[in-house]
Amino acid sequence: MKIETKLLHAGLEPDPTTGAIMTPIYQTSTFVQEGVGKNKGYAYSRTQNPTRHALEKNLAAIENAKFGLCFGSGLAAIDAVIKMLNPGDEVISTNDLYGGSYRIFTTIFEKYGIKFNFVDMTNVNNIKNAITGNTKLIWVETPTNPMMSVIDIQGIANIKNENIWLAVDNTFASPYLQNPMDYGADIIMHSVTKFIGGHSDVVMGALMLNDETVANELYRIQNSSGAICGPQDSFLVLRGVKTLHVRMDRHCYNAKKVVEFLQGHEKIDKIYYPGIESHPNHEIAKKQMRNFGGMISFTLKNDTTAAAYSILEKTKLFSLAESLGGVESLIGHPASMTHASIPREVRTQAGVVDSLIRLSVGIEEVSDLIADLKTALD
Ligand SMILES: *Cc1c(COP(=O)(O)O)cnc(C)c1O
Repeated sequence: MKIETKLLHAGLEPDPTTGAIMTPIYQTSTFVQEGVGKNKGYAYSRTQNPTRHALEKNLAAIENAKFGLCFGSGLAAIDAVIKMLNPGDEVISTNDLYGGSYRIFTTIFEKYGIKFNFVDMTNVNNIKNAITGNTKLIWVETPTNPMMSVIDIQGIANIKNENIWLAVDNTFASPYLQNPMDYGADIIMHSVTKFIGGHSDVVMGALMLNDETVANELYRIQNSSGAICGPQDSFLVLRGVKTLHVRMDRHCYNAKKVVEFLQGHEKIDKIYYPGIESHPNHEIAKKQMRNFGGMISFTLKNDTTAAAYSILEKTKLFSLAESLGGVESLIGHPASMTHASIPREVRTQAGVVDSLIRLSVGIEEVSDLIADLKTALD
């Protein structure tokens, strides 16, 4: 099946007791056993729940993976992956990492003796040079937040050895635009909160992978640490995921039009979007992505916080908020929101300057979105 069909059908069957076409919300903690140790595949909802199970099968299929696991948030999914490591193990990650991932690595896991090495991953040689005998995991995010850097997944798969897991945070692209498994990734992570859920009504995370031994280890951690998602949230995501392709097509179409508008506006300085030819890794984006997504960052010629704030305060359709990937358009200011905890000199070097604005372009009619931005900019 093609992904558009898998989104609607993979892993799903009519409910065996009633024939309900939609997977019911099995809002139950436990399951009555026919005899001691004799159950219908479910014993306790931390270990497994039928609504979550349906979603896990669906999400695995849409990333071309055999196994799927869902968690209470994207960070809980990351937490499970890092818990497979031991003290002394080393992780290589990107210096342009989602702030929450950086925080869990450095403030939670470093104190358990796991080392994190952050490099500029846009050049694969930097990763090659950082690999040591203790490297156990390469943690990639592409495109990155908020600079939209693109990292060559296949390039990394080619230079690493089989003792190192290659994990990709595929949140920004979504499974519709990019399938890291096809380029040699071992583990895929999603903040389901974003494009997969798509409606800003759920916080959830997911892992997808093919190796059965590693999958069993992750299921053990999921059950042992217990950071699962509930049946109601699983139902909402099963509903959201069915329209991922339709939504993403519109996110991409609208983002392209918004980029064209920004390119023609006199107050705009730089635009960060993998779909523009001047993007440093545009060719890699073209190779590994089906389209370029709904996220755009840009800077103003008047590079001041005040200039950025005046735009953030004036848009009406673009709501000022954290998060991304929902059907409604959002606008944000990385320097004072997601990257506020990073010293100004450090974030400026990474491109997060005072006037940097990030857009999550929604699926409204694009002429209304452009009119909203034009009014705010003018
Ligand atoms: C939001 C996000 C996360 C964290 O996911 P939560 O669901 O908020 O825990 C991780 N990576 C990226 C790229 C994100 O955008």
